Amino acid sequence: MLVAALSGLLLACGVCSPFCTQATAAEADLQAPASKQAKAKAPTPAPAKPKDPSGIKAVFAERKDLFDKVSALTGLPWYYLAAIDQYERTINLAKKRPAPEGIVAIYFTELRWCGMMNPDHEDQNIQSIALFGGIGRDGSGDGLADRSNDLDRLYTMAMYLLKRGSAEEDLRIGLWEYYQNTRSVERIQEFAQIYAKFDTLDLHEHCFVMPLTSDYTYRSTWGASRGWGGYRIHEGTDLFASHGIPVRSATYGIIEVMGWNPYGGWRVGIRDLNNVYHYYAHLSGFNKKEVKQGDIVKPGQVIGWVGSSGYGKPGTSGKFPPHLHYGLYRDNGLTDWSFDPYPHLRKWEREERMRRSKK
Ligand SMILES: [Zn+2]
Repeated sequence: MLVAALSGLLLACGVCSPFCTQATAAEADLQAPASKQAKAKAPTPAPAKPKDPSGIKAVFAERKDLFDKVSALTGLPWYYLAAIDQYERTINLAKKRPAPEGIVAIYFTELRWCGMMNPDHEDQNIQSIALFGGIGRDGSGDGLADRSNDLDRLYTMAMYLLKRGSAEEDLRIGLWEYYQNTRSVERIQEFAQIYAKFDTLDLHEHCFVMPLTSDYTYRSTWGASRGWGGYRIHEGTDLFASHGIPVRSATYGIIEVMGWNPYGGWRVGIRDLNNVYHYYAHLSGFNKKEVKQGDIVKPGQVIGWVGSSGYGKPGTSGKFPPHLHYGLYRDNGLTDWSFDPYPHLRKWEREERMRRSKK
């Protein structure tokens, strides 16, 4: 039994690995649940402790309150502010940049805030900042444009985006002007859609990728060399299960990709709010009645079924034992990095079991 699973695994690795490398370049992204804790943990005044769920919820509530305030002040929907804030948080983490003070991750450089030619890099005077072309504004109402103040930073960002107008296209152009990067604009728009759909910031729960009651087996296979030939690493975890076992989204997110790939077969790619791309390959089919490309999903939602598709033209199947190849990629703003899903799968499996036992 075990031997069969292991030999299947080697074969599957050879199959999976070339594709995943391509997926890296083409699509994928960042932040995993381990860092999710760190992320949800706010820098200074927040009452949050990283492992205390109620603390995290308090931070979410405080953050949401700030977004609502600035939204009321400017007319920019709160979920755009939430999306920008969360995007910046994921990039800070990916680049191991220190988070700015406060509970908002949106960050401005001194020069951008105060103006390039401003001799005073700590300037908080609204008039002189404007005179030197800085973008810093006062959102808190104290008459100062304080770069370390959450409300001032959020208000500044909102006013920058609204320069051209509040239509979606205007905001898109504003985002592009700010980030000068199409990828950033796309991520932020995806995040905004997710927040808008659920109307909350509390969207970081995960579940296991198959029903816990189903018969599956997996071990740590990320980074294992291909079964034969090449040298590229295996960018994922192979979960062996019978044909037809439901495959579920592990996360809240948006379906970026759903279709055929010569290596991955029928595969789905889902982006979550940690800027992580979840990649599910070799499915026997998609849950087309419930999900399609561009849809927002939640943890546990069935996206397809375990199969052995791939390694040929569309519909090719059965060239290796049925299994789910599951990959995770994080976005650092420019490229995607594969990281090991195994510890996260174990964690989500454990957490889901605990939730179920409490019920
Ligand atoms: Zn694989």
